[in-house]
Amino acid sequence: MSPYLLALDEGTTSARAIVYDENANVMAVGQREFTQIYPYPGWVEHNPEELWTAQLAAIKEALNFSNIDLSMVSAIGLTNQRETTIIWDKHTGTPIYNAVVWQCRRTSEMVEKIKGDYGSVIKEKTGLVPDSYFSAPKARWILDKVPGAKGKAERGELLLGTVDSYLIYRLTGGTVHATDPSNASRTLLYNIHTLSWDPELLDIFGIPESLLPEVKPSSGFIGNTDPGVMGGEVPVTGCAGDQQAALFGHTATRVGESKCTYGTGNFLLMNTGNKPMASERLLTTIAWRIGGKTTYAMEGSVFTTGAAIQWLRDELRILDSADESESLALSIPDNDGVYMVPAFTGLGAPHWNQYARGIIVGLTRGTSRAHLVRAALESIAYQTYDIVECMHRDSGYGITSLRVDGGATRNGFLMQFQSDILDVPIIRPRMIEATARGAAYLAGLAVDFWKSVSALPSPESEVDVFTPKMSSDTRKRLLDGWRNAVGKS
Ligand code: ADP
Repeated sequence: MSPYLLALDEGTTSARAIVYDENANVMAVGQREFTQIYPYPGWVEHNPEELWTAQLAAIKEALNFSNIDLSMVSAIGLTNQRETTIIWDKHTGTPIYNAVVWQCRRTSEMVEKIKGDYGSVIKEKTGLVPDSYFSAPKARWILDKVPGAKGKAERGELLLGTVDSYLIYRLTGGTVHATDPSNASRTLLYNIHTLSWDPELLDIFGIPESLLPEVKPSSGFIGNTDPGVMGGEVPVTGCAGDQQAALFGHTATRVGESKCTYGTGNFLLMNTGNKPMASERLLTTIAWRIGGKTTYAMEGSVFTTGAAIQWLRDELRILDSADESESLALSIPDNDGVYMVPAFTGLGAPHWNQYARGIIVGLTRGTSRAHLVRAALESIAYQTYDIVECMHRDSGYGITSLRVDGGATRNGFLMQFQSDILDVPIIRPRMIEATARGAAYLAGLAVDFWKSVSALPSPESEVDVFTPKMSSDTRKRLLDGWRNAVGKS
């Protein structure tokens, strides 16, 4: 057995490649940013060729840095920005349009119409609320707008995929067109109960089935890299969307275990076991499929968390850096009644109000920038609390601890406050790289690099734990204040 695994993490702003050893220690990291293309307000695209060359450069950098060549790599695991959609020519491999990125809102109007007619059947079959965020409307848009695309699609001359599919296609020299259930479950075309592309959904969005990738397990053989492209043949044996990979990277493999990623926005996923669990206000999604068993998750996201800190830094300019927010928040004993609801783009789960807008309440003559900063940090914790509450109500599972990762978890004040408000311990791994680690785990399990889930080297060994210290009276008073502010927004 070759001694290393390679994880590829193609995010929204950069491609990374990470080499792991058998203890899941990071041996080397390669990283390349790629261009964000904004053709019009609200539109976001990536150049697929650049996604690929950035990924390839990141792989070379990681291998060079660690002095490892491909023959020393047992397998490759892949994780990726989800929902982003690419359509390419089956014969030439050339994309017919840029990748339409998950954040892109160009299909809002199309989705409003579809939602009115088919909202409930879509929710029932896919676990998702129809939204321009997901892949199918993006694919429909490309087919409608690119001259000649519809005809080519009908003649079976095009292929469609999320970023994982496109990278697999490139890694294997154009021989494999595949995805995994965690990515498929974000397209609005995949039936999460029957585990197949759904004819009715394909019909609603007008997508011929011939365009779609084969859905393979998240952990299992997908294809071999093409030596002509990669300089060696290595099996690709792991694949999952970034949030699901992070859940796996935290080894949240038992029912009720959950993780929250704190970035620009927050993503909370809870493992709900082998049956999809429907939720009024949250998404149901596939976490992974391993060894013939499908694991489902409930997902809630908050649009604006770390972005509120960026706003204080870049627009209000009352912060020099995001890191400074911690010392400022700690420079005052409490919020002094100041609450910020950063509903800059409306409120997501569990409120779902796209017309809500941001507000700050409780200002007095004594309010300082420290209060505003503290209110912004506290809002991250309150919004996460709202998702956890909603998950508890809809799934019946309460959380007993929360595993965290992402840029804003560096903030110790935020982590302690989160623990206080949720009244559970927060577990923060020292290596806050759960996403790539999850992809490595999935790939490693498939080739017996690690024999079983219980044999995975556990990130728990090196963690910081924040335990609740707040009295229940204070918690209740703060949450009442937050609810009052949300009502006003
Ligand atoms: P993404 O993957 O969404 O780009 P990251 O995981 O890189 O996000 O995290 C970046 C976000 O975290 C930014 O929105 C930034 O404002 C926030 N952030 C970074 N450091 C801190 C900090 N010390 N305290 C609070 N927020 C922070």
